[in-house]
Amino acid sequence: MEVDAIIIGAGACGLMCAVQAGYLGKKVIILEKGAKPGAKILISGGGRCNYTNLLSSTEQFISGNKHFAKSAFNQWTVYDTISFFEVNGITGKEKTLGQLFPDGKNAKDVVAMFVDLCQDLGQEIRCNAEVDSVRKVEDGFEVEYHQHSATHVLRASKVVIATGGLPIPKMGATDFALRLARKHQINVVETAPALVPLTITGKDEEWYAQLAGNSVFCEVSNAEISFEENILFTHWGLSGPSILQISSFWRPGQTININLLPHENISTLIEQERNQQGKTLLSTLLNRLYTKKLTEALGKYLPLNKPVAALTKVEIAEIHRTIHQFVVKPAGDKGYDKAEVMRGGIDTAELSSKSLECKKVPGLYFGGECVDVTGWLGGYNFQWAWASGFVIAQHL
Ligand SMILES: Cc1cc2nc3c(=O)[nH]c(=O)nc-3n(C[C@H](O)[C@H](O)[C@H](O)COP(=O)(O)OP(=O)(O)OC[C@H]3O[C@@H](n4cnc5c(N)ncnc54)[C@H](O)[C@@H]3O)c2cc1C
Repeated sequence: MEVDAIIIGAGACGLMCAVQAGYLGKKVIILEKGAKPGAKILISGGGRCNYTNLLSSTEQFISGNKHFAKSAFNQWTVYDTISFFEVNGITGKEKTLGQLFPDGKNAKDVVAMFVDLCQDLGQEIRCNAEVDSVRKVEDGFEVEYHQHSATHVLRASKVVIATGGLPIPKMGATDFALRLARKHQINVVETAPALVPLTITGKDEEWYAQLAGNSVFCEVSNAEISFEENILFTHWGLSGPSILQISSFWRPGQTININLLPHENISTLIEQERNQQGKTLLSTLLNRLYTKKLTEALGKYLPLNKPVAALTKVEIAEIHRTIHQFVVKPAGDKGYDKAEVMRGGIDTAELSSKSLECKKVPGLYFGGECVDVTGWLGGYNFQWAWASGFVIAQHL
């Protein structure tokens, strides 16, 4: 055995795992198929890397077992992430809703921090090294990989699968973890794109397309959950933070509800306007709340050219319904090309929540996005990647 463990994937989880293992005096090798480590960290948060969230708890994660991640989050908290980054020269700045970004630095600095730490600790990151198979042998594992068309084999008693999820195939995302799991009869929870824009087709397509580029603060909800952030109209449907958030809870065929005025009541605003200036047109009132384009588009449903004093009770009820309960039936989502994360993955029932070791295959660990623990938008997914990487390192 040349090393204590082989880590497959130099993403957020694999890099954190290598660094933490190094602190404990363990020698690891990371095998990374890409030409450089941390490719997804580099594009995260629009290149600024929203690396954790101050509000993080298990509440902001979707998983077959809501309690599974508790142990990892107790072992590695948000404050551990913050101080780890600080000690290594990156202080955090909250943008909104607890989202922490590097202050005056960016995603490149985050990757550089991990690469430097790996170097200082003597942990090798071998790039352009795509793993083809992991075989159980008597005293551990044989990992076969190819690098520049030559095939190599490495052996270690422990192997960490940190190969991420399916989003952004053109960046080299693979289903390696899922394939390996199935080969070892490890259950995989059905996967799907999450934090992904939603599409609208058919008769409503044009209505949305005319609004492309318009953004509005909304409450977006379904029977399960609601989010208050902006939505963005696009040529093919809906995007923006609150749509990405609800997409993780949406299933094909379902509707979502959009409240276009979450903190006010349109019926009350109409009533007040009637009392002050009854001649005001409904369009004038709506133009105070929305872009001109959105008001015009709402004209498909509302009597924009009527003075508020002339609106009937039925019309006001209809306006109220349209503004506060705008029902959308998405045709689908934009798929893994545009998704930020993958929902589902390695069934948590197959793993120890304390160590993330596979119950059926001792010595094999799964961490990060390939596991059925999916965070909301806002730095939660990195918090899971760091925490799971830390936890695994404690057991190598
Ligand atoms: C556009 C975008 C923006 C995002 N922004 C944020 C954000 O701001 N905040 C946040 O919390 N989350 C964000 N995310 C999600 C976050 O990037 C992921 O949840 C996180 O990177 C998962 O870490 P990971 O280590 O599990 O996987 P990854 O970071 O995906 O790393 C997996 C690595 O494994 C390698 N690999 C795969 N198969 C093999 C193989 N067979 N052999 C060798 N190597 C292999 C891959 O090349 C990759 O480098 C964003 C995602 C996207 C797509």
